[in-house]
Amino acid sequence: MTHIFPESVCIVSVAIPIPVNQLFDYRVPTHIDPAQLQIGVRLRVPFGNSYKVGFLMTLPTFTETASPKLKAIEAVLDVEALLSPHDIHLLRWASHYYYHPIGEVMSAAFPVALRKGNPAQLPTLSFYRLTALGMQTDPADLKRAPKQQQLLTQLQAQPLQGIYEANLANPLTRWRATLKALLDKGLLTIEQQHAAPIKQSHSLQAPLIANIEQQHAITQISAALAHFRVFLLEGITGSGKTEVYMQIIQTVLSAGQQVLVLLPEITLTPQLQARFKQRFDVPIAISHSKLTDTQRQTAWLKMQQGIGGILLGTRSALFTPLKNPGLIILDEEHDSSFKQQEGFRFSARDVAIMRAKRLKIPVILGSATPSFESLENAAQQRYQLLPLPTRAGQATEPHYLILDIRNKKLQEGLCEPLVQAIKATLAKNEQVLIFLNRRGYAPTLICHSCGWVARCQRCDANLVTHYDKRLLRCHHCAHEQTLIQQCPACKKTALIPLGLGTERIEKVLQNLFPTQRIIRLDQDSTQRKGALEAYLGQINAQEVDIILGTQMLAKGHHFPNVTLVALLDVDSGLFSIDFHAPEKLAQLIVQVAGRAGRADKPGKVILQTRQPEHPLLLTLVREGYNRFAEVALAERKAASLPPFSHQALLRAFATDPESPLWFLQAVCALIDPLQIRGVKLLGPVSAPMAKRAGRYHYQLLLQAERRVDLRTLLDQLMPQIPRLREAKKIRWSLDIDPVDLY
Ligand code: ADP
Ligand code: ZN
Ligand code: ZN
Repeated sequence: MTHIFPESVCIVSVAIPIPVNQLFDYRVPTHIDPAQLQIGVRLRVPFGNSYKVGFLMTLPTFTETASPKLKAIEAVLDVEALLSPHDIHLLRWASHYYYHPIGEVMSAAFPVALRKGNPAQLPTLSFYRLTALGMQTDPADLKRAPKQQQLLTQLQAQPLQGIYEANLANPLTRWRATLKALLDKGLLTIEQQHAAPIKQSHSLQAPLIANIEQQHAITQISAALAHFRVFLLEGITGSGKTEVYMQIIQTVLSAGQQVLVLLPEITLTPQLQARFKQRFDVPIAISHSKLTDTQRQTAWLKMQQGIGGILLGTRSALFTPLKNPGLIILDEEHDSSFKQQEGFRFSARDVAIMRAKRLKIPVILGSATPSFESLENAAQQRYQLLPLPTRAGQATEPHYLILDIRNKKLQEGLCEPLVQAIKATLAKNEQVLIFLNRRGYAPTLICHSCGWVARCQRCDANLVTHYDKRLLRCHHCAHEQTLIQQCPACKKTALIPLGLGTERIEKVLQNLFPTQRIIRLDQDSTQRKGALEAYLGQINAQEVDIILGTQMLAKGHHFPNVTLVALLDVDSGLFSIDFHAPEKLAQLIVQVAGRAGRADKPGKVILQTRQPEHPLLLTLVREGYNRFAEVALAERKAASLPPFSHQALLRAFATDPESPLWFLQAVCALIDPLQIRGVKLLGPVSAPMAKRAGRYHYQLLLQAERRVDLRTLLDQLMPQIPRLREAKKIRWSLDIDPVDLY
């Protein structure tokens, strides 16, 4: 009697980048050897009516119960996984921690070109070498072609080395034609190579002699290399943090290991890149969102293959694989740009720490104004605090001056003592920096006759007057319209702009100081590519007297000749419903103030306020940022707010005002029967700005003193939410450890 066995099928589970948190099973077709499939390799798989690039998440198993309809893998795109098992583990952890679909999390680790399924290959580079003829030819024979002569001379000086096309870009402008001419004469050969050149045409700068605090930090961190440990390097701007980073980086590079350096802002990368290039003899890779897909893929693969020594990047560079990881640095760790605010809402700081823990390497968090969380972690000895309390070199700390502007006559927002201080500074040929965190001309356009106010139809917000462009613009959605003269309600031409924006202050300053050179730095004035860099160049070349701008000015740039900083309106930060607001305000004030008085010139910081007795402001100014943080942390502790509790924010929105509320109520109804103690529900309530871009936003905040309680609840709740009937009509998201309750 014959026995018919059911056919045994080989299957794997695949993570696919779609917003559904599950893996998908595929059949391994017979022409693919299952023994060769590594976890993490990219696969092309049929999905719906098309194909997607997914990631293999389980080793192949044989089953006899596979559905006959199970589709087969179309192609295996990598021979070996591009990510290490540690990194795949980290991504699984992040997917679980943030309750974000594994396929999207995996995909976030790859540059776009590789997500699309491109081969993981570095672009080739042209490499030129002298031929035997080239070595013998006398450069003097080429005197009618001076460039060819120059290049031949250069190559003959080191006849065995050859040269990369990329390394010629600088000194010879029309190098391509020159190379071609020498090739045609048979003096050169050309090869295509994968590895990038190590570009080193200048002598390297030696490290500075560290001061006592710097040396202490360097010693402590150096002793912990090859272990997991978090260091909080706290030092005001100019205290020499970057010098500390560089001395430790040197040690790590000498051990043949790589360094990942994360910055909050794209505009800060060129500055740091230039300093690193002067110091280190290794290829430095750059990764941020303004680069092309090919550039990002190149940077990623260089690190993955161990060619790059240092990767300098923004938040999204965090997941770049490192062949020999040695150190992670997060500069300006307090900056909220390290938290992704849409899609996969991860904190690059927190995930970097998890990554370092798995890799058993140290992390350095650097800031002049550490986040309260990090300060609390340091107080609890979870992080090691390394203070740099003095400025390197000669510079002194700035002096604060609170100017009470209640009942004072203001010249369009500037009080008289401030105008005098600006004059005095300019008279000494020093620069002034003026900060106002509101762009446009005026935040409100109101009718003096009937009180009508220009509002955005799609948002709970006023339209901002932009005189330069003759527009009324909403800063919360894309809406804009021509600036009107006549009130739409009463038809009178009585519309007046109310309040201050940077455009208006610029006009005021131009009137007050007609012969001075004034620059405005905000999102509007720096839209053109390269505009910000050009302005920064002018400032450093001292072609500017007054710098006016928004929070762009708070971010890391160095303005050595600025000796007066004025913050025109600090009051708006004192009255926010978000408990993070005082922390952010203090960071902003200290960061903006930190732009002043570098080098050997003392700086002065003027704060205009109608709250001169505000305790927060006084603590900050009189006792400094750390004391301020202590007071504010004590308040948070008393109120059980993070970091003394843990939050998750469930947001929902829809085009009608009811559905999001019904949805969040339905979620509450799911939570109730779970009977989990220790989790407080706050809401559902409408978001602080309920209507945005024509959609109504609601939120539900979950808070627990023990993270485990919050997780127990979410673990049970999350799988149920997509099944809610109410979830069909709305869009929703979960934000773990939100930094913004908006
Ligand atoms: P931060 O990163 O904290 O803003 P930097 O490392 O950029 O500080 O240092 C600020 C300035 O002080 C730089 O011009 C740097 O060259 C200089 N500097 C740093 N450390 C020293 C030192 N030990 N001796 C002399 N100058 C130093
Ligand atoms: Zn009117
Ligand atoms: Zn709007």
